[in-house]
Amino acid sequence: MDFQKTADIVVIGGGVVGAATAYYLAKSGRKNVVLVEKNTVCSGSTGRCGAGIRAQWGLELNCRMALACLDTFEQLDEELGLPTGLNQGGYLLIAYKEKEWEQFKKNVELQHSLGINTEIFTDVKRAQEICPGVAVDDALGFTYYHRDGHADPFLTTFAFQEAAKRLGVKFCKFTEVTGLRVERGEIKAVETNRGTIECGDVINCAGSWAQDVAAMAGIKLPNWAERHEIFITEPVDPGVCPPMLMSFSGNFYIQQRPHGSIIAGESPSHEPVTGYTATVHSIASIARTVLKLLPRAKNIRVVRQWAGHYDMTPDAAPILGETDVKHFWHATGFSGHGFMLGPVAGQIMTALLNGDTPIIDPTIMDYRRFERGERIIEPNVV
Ligand SMILES: Cc1cc2nc3c(=O)[nH]c(=O)nc-3n(C[C@H](O)[C@H](O)[C@H](O)COP(=O)(O)OP(=O)(O)OC[C@H]3O[C@@H](n4cnc5c(N)ncnc54)[C@H](O)[C@@H]3O)c2cc1C
Repeated sequence: MDFQKTADIVVIGGGVVGAATAYYLAKSGRKNVVLVEKNTVCSGSTGRCGAGIRAQWGLELNCRMALACLDTFEQLDEELGLPTGLNQGGYLLIAYKEKEWEQFKKNVELQHSLGINTEIFTDVKRAQEICPGVAVDDALGFTYYHRDGHADPFLTTFAFQEAAKRLGVKFCKFTEVTGLRVERGEIKAVETNRGTIECGDVINCAGSWAQDVAAMAGIKLPNWAERHEIFITEPVDPGVCPPMLMSFSGNFYIQQRPHGSIIAGESPSHEPVTGYTATVHSIASIARTVLKLLPRAKNIRVVRQWAGHYDMTPDAAPILGETDVKHFWHATGFSGHGFMLGPVAGQIMTALLNGDTPIIDPTIMDYRRFERGERIIEPNVV
């Protein structure tokens, strides 16, 4: 593809956040939008994630964002003209600890006040109606919201890419940003391994590399990459795990794709590290958890195991908005929930760049909150 030497807007990063942002910008009428990706689309965290989508949060901001995500995902296939693989089998959240169960009760109160009619119960039989055969006699209680679920991260990002291309966005793959030219406090150009792009605005959607990209413009982000491991099994009867099973204290998430493969992951039990190395320890630990919860999964074979990065911030909440460098923006730091938030982040960024009112006010997600000692405290994060 011809290299684009000028652009009104350069989006850095071809994950779900970058692809969705590029799409919504073009949909809003912005011309000459270029997305640069150092590798291939979905080669970062997006193509390595569990792709869960849930409205069951403990903070009003996150509940509102998540509701906007569900509303968006529910009509995305039609809007983009391609499938996203959305599967709404609900999330069955499991509490094993007293403190966690008390928190669930508060969360559900909040969720109900916002129109998220989550079920809350202690009856194991009800849990087994939702997930036949699930072994949860040791649980204290459960919450379930039927609109939650998961989608396919590759299909979703590809659908955004194709729809964006139809609206004129140029995707430059294997194009690595190596520098940002800033003059008198304003961004002027993006330097890449393929040449320089003179531009108006630049949006940093570089996921777990966002801190490196920000540093190119002299901006310090407190973000870091944290390795998480996950596996997928051979396809089996789709009734083995209809909802997304998740527990914060139990440290797991387990879901089954519509074609039958089970995907399961856990958060690291050791000090966070980076890199894509997948370990025997992790595959064994996740497999033990799956077998304990879903005894029917015995003898199902794991076909692939991999690792990916959570793009962490000190409060595990995203960074959205303009930086101290004029026309240089961030949409990053999504930690373990950037797949679900990606489409809404794209809508928020588009509104900010266009000077419109975003569907959710992102002021609190400003990166300077950390310098001010402020945090977005969400009790329900993996
Ligand atoms: C194991 C695992 C499970 C997860 N499960 C879930 C889940 O269930 N639900 C959920 O919502 N989220 C989940 N996440 C988190 C989610 O994957 C991320 O938050 C989300 O994908 C972030 O998207 P992104 O577009 O910001 O980043 P990425 O997808 O990482 O995209 C960033 C892109 O920027 C590119 N890039 C970087 N530097 C440069 C440069 N200098 N020049 C050009 N391009 C560059 C990279 O190559 C990359 O493709 C999970 C993550 C992992 C690892």
